[in-house]
Amino acid sequence: MRDDPRRRTPRTDAVLADPAVAEAIGRLGRARIKAALATVLEACRRGEVPPESVVRRLLEALPGSAASLRPVVNATGVVVHTNLGRAPLSAAAIDAVARAAGPTDVELDLATGRRGRRGASTMAALAAAVPDAGDVHVVNNGAAALGLAALALAAGRRIVIARGELVEIGDGFRIPELLESVGAQLREVGTTNRVRLEDYERAVDDPDGRVAFLLKVHPSNFRVEGFTSSVPVAALAGLGARAGLPVVVDIGSGLLTPHPRLPDEPDATTMLRAGAALVTASGDKLLGGPQAGLLLGDADLVHRLRRHPFARALRVDKLTLAALEATLTGPTPPVAQALAGRPEDLMGRARALAVAIGTDLATAVASEGRVGGGGGPGVPLPSAAVALPHELAAPLRLGDPSVVGHVHDGRLLLDLLTVPPEHDPLLAKAVAAVRGSAAAVGATGGATATAPEERA
Ligand SMILES: *Cc1c(COP(=O)(O)O)cnc(C)c1O
Repeated sequence: MRDDPRRRTPRTDAVLADPAVAEAIGRLGRARIKAALATVLEACRRGEVPPESVVRRLLEALPGSAASLRPVVNATGVVVHTNLGRAPLSAAAIDAVARAAGPTDVELDLATGRRGRRGASTMAALAAAVPDAGDVHVVNNGAAALGLAALALAAGRRIVIARGELVEIGDGFRIPELLESVGAQLREVGTTNRVRLEDYERAVDDPDGRVAFLLKVHPSNFRVEGFTSSVPVAALAGLGARAGLPVVVDIGSGLLTPHPRLPDEPDATTMLRAGAALVTASGDKLLGGPQAGLLLGDADLVHRLRRHPFARALRVDKLTLAALEATLTGPTPPVAQALAGRPEDLMGRARALAVAIGTDLATAVASEGRVGGGGGPGVPLPSAAVALPHELAAPLRLGDPSVVGHVHDGRLLLDLLTVPPEHDPLLAKAVAAVRGSAAAVGATGGATATAPEERA
């Protein structure tokens, strides 16, 4: 009778009173802990968990945070990885988000005690980063920025756009359908591979004044090669000036100035200097900040967009404002650091990591990273990786921390381009924790090598 686990199973309130459990309740909420505890106590009653281990088992079973999104080490070599939440924030931006999370002076002037302009310091930082913009505004994402421009400037009117720029951005969403969804009509010009200035000239020659603006969209996730031609923004701006029409440029990636490693990637400053009246872009691609949509350009146009009734529905919250300002004014964000990664440094890290993991399992290899869906289609970024048996792909994804690499030629590559150097020890630890799986899975032959992530 004394050994009956049912009788020795601790009482719920006794476990909940344990200091470590009480701390977890403060972090994760009582309901979650009680649900997890019920499962552990059930196992205890069945004799599967010794009574003295209940607290430890409970704590082990708890998630790291009250939200279920899990941090992942991005070892894919894809700098802006859509499935991994695009740009990782800099430490400065993360700190800014945490500080802004409570009550904050987002719309209060602490000097006067009166209402202040929402996000003024973020707008000032953005304006300072792009001095060629007459004014700036920020909305929820790139699609919202373009949608607001189309709604405010072209509802019931026409937008002239090249057929080769009718882009699907991802998850089945398409720029042309976005524009039409706010009541704009498209006047498509040219063909898939070629468009000339004359095509645009014919389209804007409209005595009824139905054309609202000329739109140029950067094909940020694909490349058309061969017999191609497009019309540069400067030429479109010249035509726009003659016809009295603004040119709107959706650059997508959010580069504010040219990047030496991505010569074909458009940037806001160059587009504005070429005569764009308005530039739209994302905040969480190559800018390396939070999800946001940037609107940069002619002061009157930006003012019209900011005061449009629907702008309120696209308004960013204080967390975004904080992260964006810190991204613009703080230390180099991870995306820019990854783009600056030198292959010889990366190879040095890969060799050291292979030694730390064990050269029986790991080899340092040259690899090729990519910018990803955020821009620079087809541009290879020379890098280095640690090659491992592909059977480790799934256990590493499911590990703590989760590590996502990519399988190439039958091997799992952990590409270091996208891993901050200070996370190298984390990778070594993660591999050490799962290295048994390589042999185990190899023996049963049951592994599939494909990682679920798209490397796009
Ligand atoms: C990514 C992208 C968008 C959409 O931006 P989101 O921030 O994802 O809404 C629009 N246009 C282009 C050219 C893009 O590359």
